[in-house]
Amino acid sequence: MEATSLDLDFIFTKAAEVIKQHLAKNSTRDASVVKFVSPTELLNALDFALPDEGQSPEQILDYVKKVMEFSIQAGHPRYFNQLYSGLDETGIIAQMVSAATNTSVYTYEIAPVYTTIERIVIEKMCSLVGYSETDGIFSPGGSISNLYGLMCARHHRFPEVKKTGVHSLPQLVIFASEQAHYSAQKCAMIMGIGMDNAVTIKCDSRGKMIVSELEKAVTSVKKEGKCPLAVIATAGTTVMGAFDPLTEIAAVCKKHKMWMHIDAALGGSVLVSEKHKCLLKGAELSDSLAWNPHKALTVPLQCSGFITKHKGLLAQCNSAHANYLFQQDKRSYDVSYDTGDKSIQCGRLNDAFKIWLMWKAKVCHGSLAVHYYGPLQGKVGLARQIDKAIGNTKYMAEQIKKRDGFELVSEPEYTNCCFWYYPPSMRGPTPPDPHKLTKVAPIIKDLMVKSGKMMITYTPLGDKPNFFRMVTISPLSTERDMDFVLDEIDRLGRDLAF
Ligand SMILES: *Cc1c(COP(=O)(O)O)cnc(C)c1O
Repeated sequence: MEATSLDLDFIFTKAAEVIKQHLAKNSTRDASVVKFVSPTELLNALDFALPDEGQSPEQILDYVKKVMEFSIQAGHPRYFNQLYSGLDETGIIAQMVSAATNTSVYTYEIAPVYTTIERIVIEKMCSLVGYSETDGIFSPGGSISNLYGLMCARHHRFPEVKKTGVHSLPQLVIFASEQAHYSAQKCAMIMGIGMDNAVTIKCDSRGKMIVSELEKAVTSVKKEGKCPLAVIATAGTTVMGAFDPLTEIAAVCKKHKMWMHIDAALGGSVLVSEKHKCLLKGAELSDSLAWNPHKALTVPLQCSGFITKHKGLLAQCNSAHANYLFQQDKRSYDVSYDTGDKSIQCGRLNDAFKIWLMWKAKVCHGSLAVHYYGPLQGKVGLARQIDKAIGNTKYMAEQIKKRDGFELVSEPEYTNCCFWYYPPSMRGPTPPDPHKLTKVAPIIKDLMVKSGKMMITYTPLGDKPNFFRMVTISPLSTERDMDFVLDEIDRLGRDLAF
């Protein structure tokens, strides 16, 4: 029979069952986090070729199952590899509703609810930061949100750049710590500032920018006749989860008339917690901020907000007034509700909707509570989610201090715990040889991926040899899972000798 409409039974009964089975695996520790196969094996395991003829629903379901089988189990309580983890039911529903309503968030006309939701969420984020005026936009990730920050910084100071390009400008310089996200470099490339003009500032042993070094760097850039434009302060660094001293950085920015952007891609989520929001003290002094709820708040990928206290600046900076889309003579409503021209994109996903629906489902504690929707069995509030994540990291750090053969890189502040493992062959009165130590984590990681029971990543940092970076943001993870990770690393690594 010729299909004349969407086969809803196929989507919501058969496919939904397959998806449900995939998600159900997250509540058991028996399932693997990853079923690792080599690229060649993968090509044999799944028929990747694009055929000339359409295939049957059964075959399609079979592909869906295979795709899930060979994807990582990102909602697994022992998936600690990235800065996102955990899957949220409400977030998944929002994602499905997005697919079903399939629209793009540029005009009120075609996205009345989503443009309104985006505005409300931006206002809420601004109020949590402490901005008096509100503006912002959701973007495809923290890197792009940081780009918005620097573009606003440049437009604020040199509005003519929009027409004349970089030719008319002095040599601009931006500053970020040596442990800031690499998007600072990428933004400098993209904006024609150049990576050489993205100056890195030294960090202390906990990964925080040393503000006296910033002051020195700015002074020396000025002496060279260049223009210090902006500082990117990081709230929650990618590796250590460290928070830069925001209030002091703000003072340097004020003194030298620089824009202050906060990269709070990872750390912004702490603002929902009364207990821990002090980590972002001073954020209200900044000009703009990037915050990824898709990281520590477990909103489905992706969900990244850029906010600024300079109302109207985003539109001035980015608008191109395409009159086929943003007609100014619409008769049905005030066209200021068409917010899409603030963006550097045209079409855009309605990512704000996911955090909005999750916010509705979860209680946000304390004076920040917006709505309370009655008792929610089994559901934790966003604040409790963050508090639990930080609690798990603290627990992890305490266990590391107690165990032989484990050493913290630094005392964790947030959701990231960084540590070395020394196999028994490397333990002794003298510290291990860094050239040997740096080989330990990659070997254990390889064994870990092949056994599939958990995933955590490793990295070098500056002159420090490879260490493990564990990110504990999944609400399903417990202290027993932290113990499991340490036991498992010891099991996989105890016989290593060089
Ligand atoms: C993850 C991260 C980013 C990049 O965010 P994407 O959404 O992956 O582009 C930027 N800054 C920091 C501090 C991050 O941790």
